Amino acid sequence: MNNVQILNLSIDNFSTAELLQKLEIEGGTVFTPNVDHLMKLQTDSEFYNIYQSCTYRICDSKILLYVSKFLGQPLKEKISGSDFLPAFYNHFNQYEDTTIFLLGAASGVAQQAQENINQKVGRKMVIDSYSPTFGFENDEEECQYIIDRINRSGATVLAVGLGAPKQEKWIARYKHQLANIRIFLAVGATIDFEAG
Ligand code: UDP
Repeated sequence: MNNVQILNLSIDNFSTAELLQKLEIEGGTVFTPNVDHLMKLQTDSEFYNIYQSCTYRICDSKILLYVSKFLGQPLKEKISGSDFLPAFYNHFNQYEDTTIFLLGAASGVAQQAQENINQKVGRKMVIDSYSPTFGFENDEEECQYIIDRINRSGATVLAVGLGAPKQEKWIARYKHQLANIRIFLAVGATIDFEAG
C-alpha cells in the first residue's frame, strides 16, 4: 500500500528511511498532516489545492495512524516534523553540499536552533535562519527580503516552521522564486524544539 486515503487527504506510506532515500534522489516538498490539517482541508480549498501539489505527505498523528489500521491499510510509521528534521540533518550531513535555511519561530529562536543544529552536526549545515515578524505573510517587502536572503545564502533545503496552513501556503506561493532549494520541509514547531 503506497498511500492511504482518509477523507480528502492522501497520506504516503513511507518509513523515515524510505522518505530520506526518496528525498536524496528526487528532492521535493514534505508536509506532515495531522488531524488539524485534515479538518482545515475540509473547508480551505487553497490549502487543499496546495496539498495536492505537494510531493510527500507523511503521517504526523497517532490518530491518523490508528485510522489507517482501522481501515485495514496500516501506515508504517508516525513521522512528526520534530522527529524528521533531526533524522534529515543527521542523514544528509554526509553531503557537504546540503545546506539548510530555517524560516520561522519567534525572534532569536531560529538563530538559536541554527547554532544548536550546527553544533550537533559539526559544521555550518544550517547556513542561515530568519524569524519573521508577526503578519509578515501580508507584507510583500518582508517576503521579498526573505526570498533574497534565502537565495543569497545558497541553501539547498528550506525548513519552514510557521504552523499550518501558513507554512504550506508560504512555500507554495514562493517556491518558484527559490531556484536553489531542492527540498522544502514544513516543520511546524520543530524550530522551537531545536532551539531547546
Ligand atoms: N509561527 C511563526 N510565525 C507565525 C505563526 C507561527 O513563526 O506567524 C511559529 C511559532 O512560533 C511556532 C510555529 O510557527 O514555532 C507553529 O507552531 P505550531 O505548534 O502552531 O505548529 P504546528 O506544528 O501545530 O502546525
